[in-house]
Amino acid sequence: MNRYSRQIILKEIGTIGQERIGSSRIAVVGLGATGGIIAELLARAGAGHLRLIDRDTVEFSNLQRQILYDETDVGMAKTDAAANRLQRINNGIEVEPVAKDLHPDNIEPLLKDCDLIMDGTDNIQTRFLINDFAVKHAIPWIYSGAIGTSGMEMAIIPGKTPCIRCLMPVAPPAGALPACDIAGVLNTVPAIVGSLATTDAFKILTETQPRTNFGQLTVFDAWENSFDHVIVSRREDCTCCEGHQFEYLSARIRGLATRLCGRGSIQINPMRPMEIGLEELARRLHDLGEVRCIRHMIRFKNGSKELSIFNDGRAIIRGVKDEAEARALYSRYIGE
Ligand SMILES: [Zn+2]
Repeated sequence: MNRYSRQIILKEIGTIGQERIGSSRIAVVGLGATGGIIAELLARAGAGHLRLIDRDTVEFSNLQRQILYDETDVGMAKTDAAANRLQRINNGIEVEPVAKDLHPDNIEPLLKDCDLIMDGTDNIQTRFLINDFAVKHAIPWIYSGAIGTSGMEMAIIPGKTPCIRCLMPVAPPAGALPACDIAGVLNTVPAIVGSLATTDAFKILTETQPRTNFGQLTVFDAWENSFDHVIVSRREDCTCCEGHQFEYLSARIRGLATRLCGRGSIQINPMRPMEIGLEELARRLHDLGEVRCIRHMIRFKNGSKELSIFNDGRAIIRGVKDEAEARALYSRYIGE
C-alpha cells in the first residue's frame, strides 16, 4: 500500500495532487512551534524537498510546544535536530537544514528556487523581508502568527491576493508587539495555525481547487473558541505589491544585533565573515570556559553567559542584559 494512500484517495488531492506535492520545493523559515508543525505535516505528506531555515538552538523552554524536539536535542541547532527527526519520519524526501539567519544578503540563494515559502518566524521584520522577496519574484508564501491564545494565518499569492503590507503597511515599532517570552503561548495555538497554513500549502501546490478563500486573514482565539475570517483588500497605495519598492531587501544587516524571542538572548551578525574556522576558535576558547562542538556550531559557556557560535560567524549570546554587553562578549571571544 502506498504510504500516501489516505491523502491520494481524497478528491482534493488525488494522484496528480500527490505528484505535485512530491515534486515541490518548499522553504520553512523558522522552526519553532508553528514552523515545526508545518515541517512535520509537509514531510509526512511527502513534500519533495524541504529547506529548513532557522538561526537558533533548542532550549528547554521550547519543548512545551515545539514538537520536533525532545530533551536530547537541547543545545543543538534547531535545523539539525529537525532534519534528523524529519528524515526518520520520511526518508523518501529531501531535507536540507540551513542554520542561518535569513537576511537581505542571503535571501536570494536561500529562497529563489522554491515554489512556496512557509512562515514560521517570530518577528515582523523577517516577514516583511519574505514578503518583499516573494512579491518581487512572484513566489507564494503563507503568513502564520501565534501568541497567547490567539493565532492568524493568510496565504499570499503575488499578483492574485493582497500582500502582508496591504494588511499592515508599516512595521509596528520595536517592542510594540507582544513577544512569546513575555506574553506566553498556549501550545495548541501554533498547532492550529501550522495546520491551517499547511492546508493552504496543499491547496496552492495541488491547484485542484478554486482558491476561494485566498485573500482572507483567518483570526482565531482558541480559548474563546472564536474563529473569524477578515477580508483583506489590496491597497492601491501599497508600497510593496503596487509600488514595487522592496525596502526590506535593501536593508543593511552587517553588524546588526537582534533581540531574540527568549529572555536575555541577543544575536550578533558579524561585520565581516569570520576569518578562522570553528575548530581553531574552539581551541582558543578552551582555556576560557566550557566548550562543546555540536556539528556546525560551538557552544561556549563561561559562568552565566553562553554563546552559540555558528560557522558563518553569527553568534547567539544568552544571559546578557543588553546589546552592549552582547557586543562586548562577541568581541572578547570571537573578534570584531
Ligand atoms: Zn500589498
